Amino acid sequence: MNKRITVFLLLATVAPAADITTQYKAISQKLINAALEDTEGMARLEFLCDRIGNRVTGSVNLQRAITWAAAEMKKAGLENIQTQPVKVPHWIRGKESATLLGPVTKSLTMMGLGLSVGTPKEGITADVVIATSFEDLTAMGREKVAGKIVLFNPEWKGYGPTVTYRTTGASKAAELGAVAMLVRSMTGTSLQSPHTGTLQYAEGTKKIPAAAVSVEDAALIARIARGGTQVRVHLMMEAVQLPDADSHNVIGEIRGSELPNEVVVLGGHIDSWDVGQGANDDGSGIMATFQAVALIKNLGLKPRRTIRVVFWTAEENSGSGAKAYRELVGAAVKDHVAAIEMDGGAEKPLGFGFGSGGGAGRRRGSGAPATSQAAFDRVTEIGKLLEGIDCGKITPGGGGADISPLITDGVPGFGVATSGAHYNDWHHTQADTFDKIVPRDFQLNVAQLAVMSYVLADMPERLDQMK
Ligand SMILES: [Zn+2]
Repeated sequence: MNKRITVFLLLATVAPAADITTQYKAISQKLINAALEDTEGMARLEFLCDRIGNRVTGSVNLQRAITWAAAEMKKAGLENIQTQPVKVPHWIRGKESATLLGPVTKSLTMMGLGLSVGTPKEGITADVVIATSFEDLTAMGREKVAGKIVLFNPEWKGYGPTVTYRTTGASKAAELGAVAMLVRSMTGTSLQSPHTGTLQYAEGTKKIPAAAVSVEDAALIARIARGGTQVRVHLMMEAVQLPDADSHNVIGEIRGSELPNEVVVLGGHIDSWDVGQGANDDGSGIMATFQAVALIKNLGLKPRRTIRVVFWTAEENSGSGAKAYRELVGAAVKDHVAAIEMDGGAEKPLGFGFGSGGGAGRRRGSGAPATSQAAFDRVTEIGKLLEGIDCGKITPGGGGADISPLITDGVPGFGVATSGAHYNDWHHTQADTFDKIVPRDFQLNVAQLAVMSYVLADMPERLDQMK
């Protein structure tokens, strides 16, 4: 080794963090260019949506998607491809309907909630009581609720604060003797598009049938009731839960050139609901993360650490894929240097949510240690490599359902942030279809995933060790 090279290497080793943007500028530009020219990622997403279709757990479609995805990873040249067995819920919707019986007879635009029990064959006919909050329900008490169908019609305050009515409303209503639960669809904007989504029955509480009604029909029922008219509804749902089915997480990677046991994992979930095409939720997430890794491979880049893409199964109804992956990793979780999840659709990307907010305290509601300010600053530096395409902004609070078991055990977590302009309007509905994906936005998502995952896998330091 000549002296000049030695000096150069020494300088490179002690280079301060601020140099990350200089160090990775050329490679980032290559990745961005490749992503913006790429059509293969969208072609794969189109195939998944149009030729395989939606992918509820237990379905033939989901197994077809898993087999196809593993083959596509192989074609892309990824290594160590695995389909990890996972047991998943097997719920079948069957036929379903809800009919308003007065003052007009009208078929309601509804959709049963995932994992709901069905009604008796003849359905349930009952008066409807309306609650705009859980306090409302409690105030009505057993006297007014027993034997009735409860309609939760809460004000829309965004997905996070409002979704609790969908997930826990059925059991809260059942505790007071309700015979079924309806909930206004979880969205702010609706074109008569009801939203499914999972519910969680509380243990020891009677399981009652539960369905979403469209925003429009929830409003209609509320208007009629406000005039003092007793609303009556007939609800019929064939939904059944079968014994758990076999499914798989799909895993592939680019092996690290120097530190192969250290891993940057990125991915989304391969299952979807049984409606629409699971295009934004979460076909776009798995195809964009996969394409980011495929482009790194295509360009012949060899990051120091391993980059692994995972398509988790059963995110929508149990999280059993995420739990199984955590078990598979075992004690090696300490060598997961970052986990990136994309599960918010492929609208225009803004950057990433990261860690616990770059400083004090622990992540709220989890046992995860806080990420350091130095780590947050470093991720912000990496984000600057994406300024040219107006992405890469880093905001506090990263994560997602599939990587939460990793984050809880100290892995720095990232969630892809997008404009989210319409995601909640589409997901879990018949409208979650391929035509909603804007090719340029999808490519930008691929670009920011490729740059972030590559730099995290290649830079000298690990985020969790930065003080
Ligand atoms: Zn999702």
